[in-house]
Amino acid sequence: MASAFNERLQAQLDARRAARLYRERREVQSPQGTLLRVDGRELLNFCGNDYLGLANDPRVKQACIAGIEAYGTGSGASHLVCGHGAAHEELEQALAKFTGRSRALVYSSGFMANVGVLTALLGPRDAVFEDRLNHASLLDGGLYSGARFKRYAHLDTTVLERLLEQDQSGGERLVVSDGVFSMDGDVAPLAELMNVCERRRALLMIDDAHGFGCLGSDGGGLARQVQEQGTHVDEDRLPILLGTLGKAFGTAGAFVAGSEALIETLIQFSRPYIYSTAPPPALASATLRSLDIVRGEPWRREHLRALITRFRRECLALGFTLTDSATPIQGLLLGGEQAALDASARLQEHGLLVSAIRPPTVPPGTARLRLTFSALHTSAELDRLLDALATLRPSLEEPAHG
Ligand SMILES: *Cc1c(COP(=O)(O)O)cnc(C)c1O
Repeated sequence: MASAFNERLQAQLDARRAARLYRERREVQSPQGTLLRVDGRELLNFCGNDYLGLANDPRVKQACIAGIEAYGTGSGASHLVCGHGAAHEELEQALAKFTGRSRALVYSSGFMANVGVLTALLGPRDAVFEDRLNHASLLDGGLYSGARFKRYAHLDTTVLERLLEQDQSGGERLVVSDGVFSMDGDVAPLAELMNVCERRRALLMIDDAHGFGCLGSDGGGLARQVQEQGTHVDEDRLPILLGTLGKAFGTAGAFVAGSEALIETLIQFSRPYIYSTAPPPALASATLRSLDIVRGEPWRREHLRALITRFRRECLALGFTLTDSATPIQGLLLGGEQAALDASARLQEHGLLVSAIRPPTVPPGTARLRLTFSALHTSAELDRLLDALATLRPSLEEPAHG
């Protein structure tokens, strides 16, 4: 029995390897930072999501240690039994204030939060409308909910509006989009999305996992940035706002921010929230400290912006094609899967860690290098990246010249 089972699994694994889609994990032996010790070798890191460089910040670590001293390691139970601690409560209040929402609710991960929100709010009589390039957890949450599932072309609010117009059912209608798209680094047309939702009477949910910390003058994310550009944003026009804590905040977990009724609904009906052990209270202590730093050290965002501007200018001058992104996620398009893998391997020979992203994570024909920047990258480190990319370019062009 078991051996036949293992043979079926092995055949599937072999097919994946043959399709060049096999994934392998690297072993990281140092804390996160611009230099990473990976499989015994020190590499310059351009693939993490620690955008503000807080994952190994001494102040955040100290707050975590103090949290452990005060509360121990484990939360002991789910939030609704006896695992909801004072630090969780304080963090939720701070996140509500930061996002300008009535309340916030902390989940153990962004994946759980997305599945937890979509399945709590939607059922088979409802409809969900998602950008084609939304994060896997949003697509899966929409599917698990049993709601009618419609995808619209990336960023295309005209197609979205037509889908909403055609949908004549009576139930809830929820439009869902990433704030900053995780593979391209481009941003949702938030002002337009809010207008379409208002006109077509739909609710809007934005997952700003990569926007919080990076966008807006205080790191308040895409909603803050759009507000600062003069568009009115509030809890009515953008009722469901989600952020994660494992990226720019440098800790772990996620939060949903919105109205009193929304948060109470999630506490009552969101199964991934209810039936999971609360995250360690010390993690909430750490995140409270990192939230202070996110808001209080705008130089991190300014430095990132300068790195990104220079990277784009020099990369375009080298003749590369980049995704349309002003965020720390930069896609360098190479087209073929093998070209992306080769480029990543060549950069690694130069001591650089840059991930190759292939279909099905991105659409066919758009295999790429996905580069990410951190506020801790120095301009000398950016020099090293640009020098390595310059050596890469001619050899990538060889096949085209025959
Ligand atoms: C990373 C990410 C998530 C998942 O968050 P985790 O806390 O890592 O589970 C959800 N949505 C988007 C857009 C993300 O980039």
